[in-house]
Amino acid sequence: MGQPLKVLLIEDSEDDAQLVLLELRRGGFKPEYFRVETAEAFREALTRDQWDMVLSDHNLPQFNAPSALAIFNEIGIDIPFIIMSGAVRAADVVDLIKAGAHDFLEKDDLARLVPAIERELREVKIRQKKREAEETLRKLSSAVEQSPSTVIITDDKGMIEYVNPKFEKATGYTAGEVRNQLPDILGSSYLTQEQSNALWKTVRDGQEWRGEFCSQRKSGEMFWEYALVSSIKNPEGETTNYLITTEDITFLKEAEEKIYRQANYDDVTELPNRALIFDRLGQAMVRAKDADQTAALMTISLDNFKTINETLGHEVGDGLLKAVGQRLAECLRGAETAGRVSADEFAVILPDKDSAFLPKIVSGRILEKFAEAFHVDGHELFTTVSIGITVCPMDGDDPGILLRNAVAAMRKAKEDGRNNYQYFSQKMNEESTERLNLETGLRRALEKEELVLFYQPIIEAASKRMVAAEALVRWRNPERGLVSPDQFIFLAEETGLVVSIGDWVLSTACIQAKQMQENGFPNINIAVNVSPEQIWSGSLVRSVQGALNQSGLAPKYLDLEMTEGVCMDDSTTTVETLNQLNRMGVRISIDDFGTGYSSLSYLKRYPFHKLKIDRAFVGDLPSDPDDVALVEAVLAMAKSLGLQVLAEGVETEEQCQYLTWRQCDLLQGFYFSHPMPLEDFLKQA
Ligand code: C2E
Ligand code: MG
Ligand code: MG
Repeated sequence: MGQPLKVLLIEDSEDDAQLVLLELRRGGFKPEYFRVETAEAFREALTRDQWDMVLSDHNLPQFNAPSALAIFNEIGIDIPFIIMSGAVRAADVVDLIKAGAHDFLEKDDLARLVPAIERELREVKIRQKKREAEETLRKLSSAVEQSPSTVIITDDKGMIEYVNPKFEKATGYTAGEVRNQLPDILGSSYLTQEQSNALWKTVRDGQEWRGEFCSQRKSGEMFWEYALVSSIKNPEGETTNYLITTEDITFLKEAEEKIYRQANYDDVTELPNRALIFDRLGQAMVRAKDADQTAALMTISLDNFKTINETLGHEVGDGLLKAVGQRLAECLRGAETAGRVSADEFAVILPDKDSAFLPKIVSGRILEKFAEAFHVDGHELFTTVSIGITVCPMDGDDPGILLRNAVAAMRKAKEDGRNNYQYFSQKMNEESTERLNLETGLRRALEKEELVLFYQPIIEAASKRMVAAEALVRWRNPERGLVSPDQFIFLAEETGLVVSIGDWVLSTACIQAKQMQENGFPNINIAVNVSPEQIWSGSLVRSVQGALNQSGLAPKYLDLEMTEGVCMDDSTTTVETLNQLNRMGVRISIDDFGTGYSSLSYLKRYPFHKLKIDRAFVGDLPSDPDDVALVEAVLAMAKSLGLQVLAEGVETEEQCQYLTWRQCDLLQGFYFSHPMPLEDFLKQA
């Protein structure tokens, strides 16, 4: 079986054609042929079919080899074109070869034909392979040239040989500027020496290295890129080049950064939030421990933020918080960090400090700075701060404990009159645990019906007859016994529980007053204490109405006692509430008069009926001239305003006589009776 060979013959003699075919068969081919004699036939055959080669005579009656070559070249097919002919001039042969013929043979020397064909077929194959290789290379290089990734190819020493246009665009360097330089020109030396060594070891071991670089453009601008570094090896397995492709991931990094900020920073003040402060505190504590030093944590609470936020609105509140954050930061030095840990609480970390006095110094600085007014949205605001200080490791070796203790110290600072600082002591911890227990118990007191009302008689001075009673709440706690209101009302106010407790007191007092009236005290008045929180909650009028309706008590017998604090705020809620209560026919008294604010203008502004002089001014009557002066001034003023006056805390006969002589209207105190349960009260009838 010979090798198939499809031959296109340009020949006018069929005999000559047969001779050629014979020669080919002898040479081991299995030829198939088509013979043409004209240009048209040649063109037609060449385009119609696929041929392994062309064998052409030199001169035919209607055609010749040069014309055939012209057509052959025009159509552009790469197969052997061999000319066979009788004697031709050497110069013509040269011209034919120049024109694209692959070989020239004499017809009577056909022995060369087969080797020539074999050689030419081989040549064609080689040319074809080369063309294919060139095509692949062209594709590859335009892929690299047009790649959306940056491509760098270095030599085996790491010197840049090639960079693609994307590189030029991304870095601002031209290929010429970076050729024969190390890629370090891009500042990729942001890798530590160690990381860099690891990179090259990975690559030299024949693996890919992937990672992030922070690089620098020619303009100096920094940008993040994700890079892939690998080696290029020759067929012998030797590294000839390195390939670095990178992609700009700056936008990813920015998104990452944004997410980080959201998770770790407070929107309003742009300071670290609770989570980050916690984290940094942990680090500071570890460093302090390693260095055998102390670190301190301060928690800083704004003393009147709630009022400002509620009366002037959240925008002003936010503005104030922001200004507070800035002012705090101004009080700090070096590595000291401020953050916001809750609505109106900030924290400051003082890391690795030898001196336990530093918090004192920083606190002093803060208190001083906060004496100046804040200007927010056209408001001049003053806010003082209460600061709690804990020092590690003495006050705790865990961030959570340290923070909790700092808050306990801060509470103490608040209880001590605010605008000061307190170092934590273990005692505070007990107090705050105690407080927490109390709070939990108080939340259940109402549903467990542990609250009771005691009643203290109120005496008309002139007649010494009992005309009223004040309802005073007590908490019958299963463990603590009878708890006095001084021990839990403040907590109820802070937690908001006072609103529901107050509602209970109101309805119970009204029901029991009705009971008194039906059991021997026909015209008795009932005084009920009301907390400012009940007024601010906006529900007091409804509660009073409900209590009166439910009990059937006439409004004129109910007397609501409120402290001066209520009047300091002239919000519409307060004004409306007091006016509505007045229209309902309920009486309103000012309790603990003289202990609160000294502005008296409010006495005229609100519909009060009675002043209760605080027992602090009664106790030393009539010997203390200051108290005498105050009581007499109050009596005179009340008279001119048409208000009744009640003196609280009357304990002695002397006090009773003096106050009666000065025409004080009403008296209340242990001299007459202690507060007592309803049953005892009813027994007096
Ligand atoms: P307050 O309204 O000024 O009540 C008078 C307090 O003085 C009562 O204390 C009473 O027991 C005490 N007291 C009466 N006479 C004398 C006396 O001669 N000498 C002395 N040293 N004290 C006397 P209590 O019951 O412990 O109540 C304390 C405060 O708790 C009350 O002061 C009032 O502000 C508040 N409170 C009591 N019950 C309620 C309530 O139901 N709601 C609210 N919001 N506060 C209440
Ligand atoms: Mg009272
Ligand atoms: Mg009082």
